[in-house]
Amino acid sequence: MGDALIQQEPDASSFPSGGLRNTFEARGYTAWDPSSPAFIMDQTLCIPTVFVSYTGDALDIKTPHLKSLRALDQAAVEVARYFDPGTENVNVVYGIEQEYFVVDLALYRARPDLMLCDRTLQGHTAAKDQQLEDHYFGNIPSRVMAFMKDFETEAYKLGVYIKTRHNEVAPNQFEFAPYHEEANLAIDHNQMIMMVMRKLAKRHNLKVIFHEKPYAGINGSGKHCNWSLCTNKGVNVFSPGKTPQDNLQFLSFIACTLKAVYEHHFLIMSTVATLSNSYRLGGSEAPPAVLSMFMGSTLTELLDMIEKGGSQRKKDIEQARMEIVGMVPEIFPDNTDRNRTSPFAFTGNRFEFRAIGSSANCASSMLFLNTAVAQQLRIFKTLVDKEMENGLKLEDALMKIIRKFVKESRHIRFEGNGYSEQWHEESVRRGLRGIQNVTEAYKVLLEEKTVALMEEMCVMNRRELEGRFEVRNEMYVKKLQIEARVMGDLAINHFVPTAIRHQNLLLENVRGLKEVFPAGEYEELVSTQLKALRKTAGYVNQMRGLVHDMIEARKKANKLEALHDRAAVYASEVLPVMEKIRDAADHLEMIVDDELWPLPKYRELLFLR
Ligand code: ADP
Ligand code: MG
Repeated sequence: MGDALIQQEPDASSFPSGGLRNTFEARGYTAWDPSSPAFIMDQTLCIPTVFVSYTGDALDIKTPHLKSLRALDQAAVEVARYFDPGTENVNVVYGIEQEYFVVDLALYRARPDLMLCDRTLQGHTAAKDQQLEDHYFGNIPSRVMAFMKDFETEAYKLGVYIKTRHNEVAPNQFEFAPYHEEANLAIDHNQMIMMVMRKLAKRHNLKVIFHEKPYAGINGSGKHCNWSLCTNKGVNVFSPGKTPQDNLQFLSFIACTLKAVYEHHFLIMSTVATLSNSYRLGGSEAPPAVLSMFMGSTLTELLDMIEKGGSQRKKDIEQARMEIVGMVPEIFPDNTDRNRTSPFAFTGNRFEFRAIGSSANCASSMLFLNTAVAQQLRIFKTLVDKEMENGLKLEDALMKIIRKFVKESRHIRFEGNGYSEQWHEESVRRGLRGIQNVTEAYKVLLEEKTVALMEEMCVMNRRELEGRFEVRNEMYVKKLQIEARVMGDLAINHFVPTAIRHQNLLLENVRGLKEVFPAGEYEELVSTQLKALRKTAGYVNQMRGLVHDMIEARKKANKLEALHDRAAVYASEVLPVMEKIRDAADHLEMIVDDELWPLPKYRELLFLR
């Protein structure tokens, strides 16, 4: 009985593996992850587990994530020992801010698109949405407050401490953040709370939506992962310290993080590029699709100084070190203003990665960040040791390599407005790769640089990366396919018939006017009706044609063998047609009799409390 808890062999044949298993040899194994406590939910004992294939390849996110934590721990300990030889391990810590929408359950059920796709595929913007910016600091609606209290209590029972709750920018959008904790636990807890929220919302006749962009035209939802490293002595390496020792440690870790994010900026950014998050990224509400790091003015000044610190002669290094180390204590948390447009920002004693989608498991992004930083820490250590062998004092060797890393990664640092057109141009000039095309970005998983990183740090092998690549494409295709089908259904079975009924009302009216008013008079009276009629008929016509085009595009895509090619056609040919259908439907919504319109409108979805 006890053994069964530790390892199990579920049938894994229907789990997406990206070709890591054939269906006829679909054995998969789950194994207890003892680093994350088991818990009881719905009178069921739940055991956090990893999931691997018969061949030992990871099928889940947990396995590589745990490996990335181990890689980072091992590399970070080595560097931390320069400063405290007694360091035994370094914990990765996450504090995950979660954004979400709530919507009235009955209205949700009246929207097939929300029910099946988690987002609205149609909906004209409400006359009022977030333009008054009156929601952010407003009161939390009482019904939502009751829901929050409910899931917070449930979270406490499961050992998760919710630290903050507040309104977000969009109407009916909210956020909470639990207290930060060890990374693996933070991930499990985030997943758990999302589950609890989905369940408890029903009690309040609400539906919680984690989709990144449930409504067009207003802000979407993200998940901000606050990230730091903490030694077993309780030292956060990203906290500027009081002694010169601490400060050199701080700068060493900052330099390695800068270098890691610079080297793998495109890989890290590509991890957030899911279909649902693609509707949100790059808009002027969410992080831009190119990764950069915001360090705050004081730290930037310091890094610039390090960078320009003269030649690398021994005396200069020593001098720069003395000057710089003396400056660090000024960087206390309040000294970093918050640049909300940066996807990766230093916030005083931690970094905040803000590009992750609200529905995602952020381990799938963070594992690449952890691995990249582990790699740079390892390189850092090798270089520092070499300098010491060549006769430099530890402090000077550190300073020299810190400077080297800061210099080499300078292009990743950006303090300005990440939403601006200038930054877009500037990032191209700097050679930073941004996500232009979501499915294209998945290819980074197959690039040699990625494979080398992940294999060298023993986090993922080539096959596992290829598997992820397939799975990501498959998810993209399947989700877009569902959206396209729902869109087709809405158009043909909801919007077109409704528009026709509206047309008939107009027709009846025109005929009636003709009957009642004499010739010479009635022409003018019906002229606007005819105009409206022509407009409605036009959209109906257009919509039918577009649905036909959309189906043809899908057929074309579905014929393609390789999932990646299929995903590319879905992105380039199916998606644009869907947008056109939406546009026609949104216009119709403005014309058609409100009583006839078949779906709850944005103003109801967003403002009904
Ligand atoms: P803000 O909205 O100001 O960014 P929040 O309070 O909403 O801040 O969320 C911040 C999150 O960061 C919380 O989960 C918090 O526990 C976490 N956090 C605080 N300090 C650290 C740290 N050193 N490492 C990781 N996470 C941290
Ligand atoms: Mg916050």
